[in-house]
Amino acid sequence: MSAEATNPATPGPITPGAHRRRGRPRIDLRRIGWAALLGPAAGNRLPDAIGHVVEAHRAHHPEAPLEPLRRAYVLAESSHRGQMRKSGEPYITHPLAVTLILAELGAETTTLTASLLHDTVEDTEVTLDQVRTEFGEEVAYLVDGVTKLEKVDYGAAAEPETFRKMLVATGNDVRVMSIKLADRLHNMRTLGVMRPEKQARIAKVTRDVLIPLAERLGVQALKTELEDLVFAILHPDEYTETRELIAANDARGTDPLAEIAEDARVVLKDAGIAAEVLIRPRHFVSVHRARRKRGTLRGADFGRLLVLVGEDADCYGVLGELHTCFTPVVSEFKDFIAVPKFNLYQSLHTAVSRGDGEVAEVLIRTHQMHKVAEAGVVALGNPYAPPADEQTDSTGERADPTRPGWLSRLLDWQEAAPDADTFWSTLREDLAQDREITVFRPDGGTLGLPAGASCVDAAYAQYGEDAHACIGARVNGRLATLSTVLSDGDTVQLLMGQDPASEPSRDWLDHARTPAARIAIRRWLTTHPATPQPEPEPEGRRAPESAPRAPQGAPAGRPAEANAVVDQPGASVRLAGCCTPVPPDAVTAFAVRGGVVTVHRAECHGVARMKSTGRAEVGVRWGDTTQCRVSLIAESFSRPHLLADLTEAIALESVAVISATVEPPTQGRVRHTYTLQLPDATTLPGLMRAMRNIAGVYDVSRAQHPAQTTS
Ligand code: MN
Repeated sequence: MSAEATNPATPGPITPGAHRRRGRPRIDLRRIGWAALLGPAAGNRLPDAIGHVVEAHRAHHPEAPLEPLRRAYVLAESSHRGQMRKSGEPYITHPLAVTLILAELGAETTTLTASLLHDTVEDTEVTLDQVRTEFGEEVAYLVDGVTKLEKVDYGAAAEPETFRKMLVATGNDVRVMSIKLADRLHNMRTLGVMRPEKQARIAKVTRDVLIPLAERLGVQALKTELEDLVFAILHPDEYTETRELIAANDARGTDPLAEIAEDARVVLKDAGIAAEVLIRPRHFVSVHRARRKRGTLRGADFGRLLVLVGEDADCYGVLGELHTCFTPVVSEFKDFIAVPKFNLYQSLHTAVSRGDGEVAEVLIRTHQMHKVAEAGVVALGNPYAPPADEQTDSTGERADPTRPGWLSRLLDWQEAAPDADTFWSTLREDLAQDREITVFRPDGGTLGLPAGASCVDAAYAQYGEDAHACIGARVNGRLATLSTVLSDGDTVQLLMGQDPASEPSRDWLDHARTPAARIAIRRWLTTHPATPQPEPEPEGRRAPESAPRAPQGAPAGRPAEANAVVDQPGASVRLAGCCTPVPPDAVTAFAVRGGVVTVHRAECHGVARMKSTGRAEVGVRWGDTTQCRVSLIAESFSRPHLLADLTEAIALESVAVISATVEPPTQGRVRHTYTLQLPDATTLPGLMRAMRNIAGVYDVSRAQHPAQTTS
């Protein structure tokens, strides 16, 4: 089934994709097996068998205590002694291999201790109480979770109940799932000894349950290997074909990717950017997908370039250099730094083409982003320990990069869902949604949503339950109904009513795909039993007119003192996302919920609307601002080097690019959106002029500038 079977001379279990991971020596697990046979060493010396585990663990955690690992190994080895794997190897090789997988990914000591013991309670005389007494509550909790998962697994593969049981464990402690994933990976690696029907059954469970979870937990390294193992079992013909394709490419004398990598190293060195340029071979499934998508594959299609840098800002520096010195394929550009994927993933994605037509995909990220991209939650330690300095941004999403948004949201939904069934059914829908789109907010922020998401989903993703007050949206500058389904790259401006008594509409449920939206709406509906409603109002202008309302104006109990930028001591000031005011714009402001004052440009649509509903303005003037952030849209005719020229013009004005997005060109036109940090607001007109002066650029405007609206 795998390379293992085709190459009996290879020592130890080898995965189909293993040889693709050049540059990272794989540890010979069979050697561990033999060392394990020798049993624990006398006294407190570390047994040889866990030498590899310890080495891998210390590489990530130099200060980690080793004593728990030693004791866990001794207990596991003695209790599993005499048991054999189907392959004929001593059973202890399995927990050792699982633990090694986790150690290499950077798991912390508690997880590794539990991993060594993960099969003891299920398969040996060891009791959970014994584990608790000897290793503490936390390790016992993890072992118990894995033991329970073990039993779940053998039910029908993708039944809701299976998910529910698995997620009960995951939802409570994601480390349990980490151990389960590593356990499954080792079992998949060694599946060749099973009957074909059993291989297929286990592979399907892996495909339907474990791989989606690995994806959502951000454990890319495990996910790709599991994908290849499943591919080999469930699609043997395509697998063989792909393997031959890769072998044929490897046998070619020249490697265009290596050549482009070398060129890139020179470019970056000349630019003075410290960066590592690596070649990442695609895994089998990825090669297969690329082939299905593109037909014939060229040499550079068999892998990607991975550029690793030290600082976030260097990522954009690398991007600028590569786009300047190669021809960028603008449609391939994605900024997952400004908008991390739901599973924490951060990188810049682009592609550059060479004169001979070879196109190299490039991933640009920092070393820290790389670690998170590979290991996801496995490297995070205890997700329930309060983060060192928890930051919450204006959207309520935890800004702490070590807490996956998905996990945070999962825990939030669990709290918010009216009942367990609602939680599980919405979560299952979420798991079934395998594609994400990214939409942009006028303030330059972004939202990751499942494909098919509507403005309703965007509203709840951005505002949480405050989205009940959403009254409409602009999509790419045009008024749109809240039911509008969003496409990747759309810019969505949500129009929020200022009335605290605003309510969501029952029919929003028909347009909500995300659990966050569905749960929030359902919860509101269950706590507000239906009353006879007049004809449904057209979406886009729902809230302000309907039903009796609380008095308009500043929220009760928080009188907005007219006259900081606002002349109001102690007020928290926010620049409105809809119109991104910048000095010296004429501005006005309104008090919003929570004692916050939002500053708008005087000509903003929102201002007129709020005035018309009788809201009191708060006096504001610009203080001594030095730095400011602004979103600019550059509309251009598509041409090579355009992005490079624009980013260069921006750099020449000493302006930093916070994020950038390039929409795929349509009819020869392309739209770039940049969120920029200006050293000084007065440089904005000069910057916009400089951008407009670039060949092919026919307009540069502020994001959501009223003048930009063409509807
Ligand atoms: Mn196991």
